[in-house]
Amino acid sequence: MLNRSEIRTYLTARGPAQEELFAEARRVREEHFGPTVILRGVIEVSNVCRVNCDYCPMRRDNTRENDRYFMSSDDILERAREIRAAGIDIILLQGGETPRNLSAIEDAIPRIRALYDGRVEILLNLGNMRREQYERLRALGATSYILKHETSDVRLFEAMRHESLDDRLRCMRDLLDLGYRVGTGLISSLPGQTLDSIVDDIELAETMGVHMCSVSPFVPAPNTPLQLSPIGDNELALNALATLRLHRPQLLVPSVSALEKTSSGGQSRGLAAGANVMTVNFTGDTDRQRYLIYGKDRFVVKKQYVDGLVRASGLRLRGSVFLSPETEPGAPISAGITDGRSRLRYAS
Ligand code: SF4
Repeated sequence: MLNRSEIRTYLTARGPAQEELFAEARRVREEHFGPTVILRGVIEVSNVCRVNCDYCPMRRDNTRENDRYFMSSDDILERAREIRAAGIDIILLQGGETPRNLSAIEDAIPRIRALYDGRVEILLNLGNMRREQYERLRALGATSYILKHETSDVRLFEAMRHESLDDRLRCMRDLLDLGYRVGTGLISSLPGQTLDSIVDDIELAETMGVHMCSVSPFVPAPNTPLQLSPIGDNELALNALATLRLHRPQLLVPSVSALEKTSSGGQSRGLAAGANVMTVNFTGDTDRQRYLIYGKDRFVVKKQYVDGLVRASGLRLRGSVFLSPETEPGAPISAGITDGRSRLRYAS
């Protein structure tokens, strides 16, 4: 574990010092996971959200103008079949925060489990909910949950999301308590964010005891209050990613599409900085164009692109690390990694 001064130094490393940081992050990834990258397939189930984040084009104030959609359980299952056919055993169901899509999700989860004979990680990213709702989703078969804290700066969180950080952390604790594998995440270069606040973000991932953490550089998206703010610094985001790897080696850390959006080649550099997860988009064309996470011209990750990127990085794809019987709640994640090889064959 690193101390605050070391984290600060790593966040600001450039040139040879940055290369050394990345090399050490790759070494630590190799030690804990082997030369592997975990592959997920995402289905974006709805673009409707009750929250009003200043950085997001799907914010509540835009909802009326956006072309709204909710996927049905049948639609979700059709996409899940495509993910299975691609040899992927992690299905990420992601959408805006609204109770209106819950019944379709609740219906879809057992059907997806049946499709895979139970050998599937169902990962949700659906925002804050009441504990009973998380409990119900878990009982239906959800395995893991992404609930990014975005920023650990209480005032900045409230200014950007118009919500309470305490509520967010309460949800995270509920999820951990219910046995979910939990992912958090931070946005780097948010307007008004300090370097110390990113140090806090990295420490929070450790103190919360989460299993996954992402770093996304800020993207000034169109039709948002922050559209004229400067674009996020990819070097800072990559350094934060590498620092997370050193601070908490067993974390799953994705190389996110925002890295590519802010700088061409960004996702490849994410892998070079120690990331070990990639997500392929399986949302249908029409809905994908309506899912305005970074605006209409976001970077859409396809399977062929991931295959090439992972191969060029000298790595290979693997399936979920959360499906092994050894990974009981509280056990180190690396306990689920037996030989570093995927249980599924990947269709190219
Ligand atoms: S970032 Fe998420 S919670 Fe915030 S407005 Fe967008 S979809 Fe809603």
